[in-house]
Amino acid sequence: MSEPLLEIDDLTITFPGGKGQWPWQRQPDVRAVQQASLSIDPGETVGLVGESGSGKTTIGRAVLRFIQPASGTIRLGEFDVTGFGRTVPSPYRRAVQVVFQDPVGSLNPSMVVGDIIGEPLQIHFGMDASAREQRAGDLLEQVGLERHHLERYPYEFSGGQRQRIAVARALATEPRLLVLDEPVSALDTSTQSQVINLLDQLQRETGVAYLFIAHDLAVVRHISDRIAVMYHSRIVEQGESDLLCEEPRHPYTDLLLASIPDPDPVIQPGKSQRRRELTVGGELGATGNAPEQGCPFANRCAHVMDVCHDQFPEPFPFESGGEVRCHLHTTGPKLEGRPLRALATPTG
Ligand code: SF4
Repeated sequence: MSEPLLEIDDLTITFPGGKGQWPWQRQPDVRAVQQASLSIDPGETVGLVGESGSGKTTIGRAVLRFIQPASGTIRLGEFDVTGFGRTVPSPYRRAVQVVFQDPVGSLNPSMVVGDIIGEPLQIHFGMDASAREQRAGDLLEQVGLERHHLERYPYEFSGGQRQRIAVARALATEPRLLVLDEPVSALDTSTQSQVINLLDQLQRETGVAYLFIAHDLAVVRHISDRIAVMYHSRIVEQGESDLLCEEPRHPYTDLLLASIPDPDPVIQPGKSQRRRELTVGGELGATGNAPEQGCPFANRCAHVMDVCHDQFPEPFPFESGGEVRCHLHTTGPKLEGRPLRALATPTG
């Protein structure tokens, strides 16, 4: 077994609370991520899925070292990321790159594509103008665009093409890890599949690893080797992609799966019914600050027990290398890592 490329251990990230009602009051700190642990092997894709506000993007930003965690560690190969001072070393910037959801905002509108892709080539490899042009053209072709596009501005491309340019720029530094933050969420469905297929192909060609952050479990499943599910600041389940989607161990994972729309008019009503059975709150989504103790899903879970309000569950590992954090596996029904379907569906 190879050593993990990225190791996140017991990561907690908080943001200072805003002003209170009176000038001398402050809101409590916001618990954005609590005790998250995750690893990615070289060349592997790990999907980090959860709703908006679950903390998944915050983890990605900590890996990029845009923010400093309150506690825990992040290591990437030889880099102790949480040990960096104010300045992030240039070799780390080269090793980890990012593609954001909105290529319009992330590509400088006043620069031609050749300069956008050429900039990291100059910074990290010191290439002269002619070497930059050659390499930027190669990268454009690698992402399915053409060499003559080097002379064009971002506004001259479609959304999918702009995302290809963003990927080409990210690959220019020959990174070991690419953080893909909702990279296809702004695209229509057919363009989404083209970009996902491209990412798959590029990974095979370059061996780069992906941290694929998205809210859509169907998209995440399509590209990921393993998936980590986040709910309200906590990673509640992680495991091999197909297994997690076919045999969920955590009630929230089950709910996310039941929330994926199905085009089949026979299957969809069954999914909607399943979703109603699985939640007491009726809605997906968490509001307010994440609880410091207890399971963050307790207010919505149809299986909730007294212990769920008092203690956040310890990780329960299961045979395929995944783990789940839910008291159903250790208390009460004692599922002990077996899929949720081993439980009778709750009634009432
Ligand atoms: Fe539901 Fe309790 Fe499991 Fe949380 S720990 S998902 S509340 S059963």
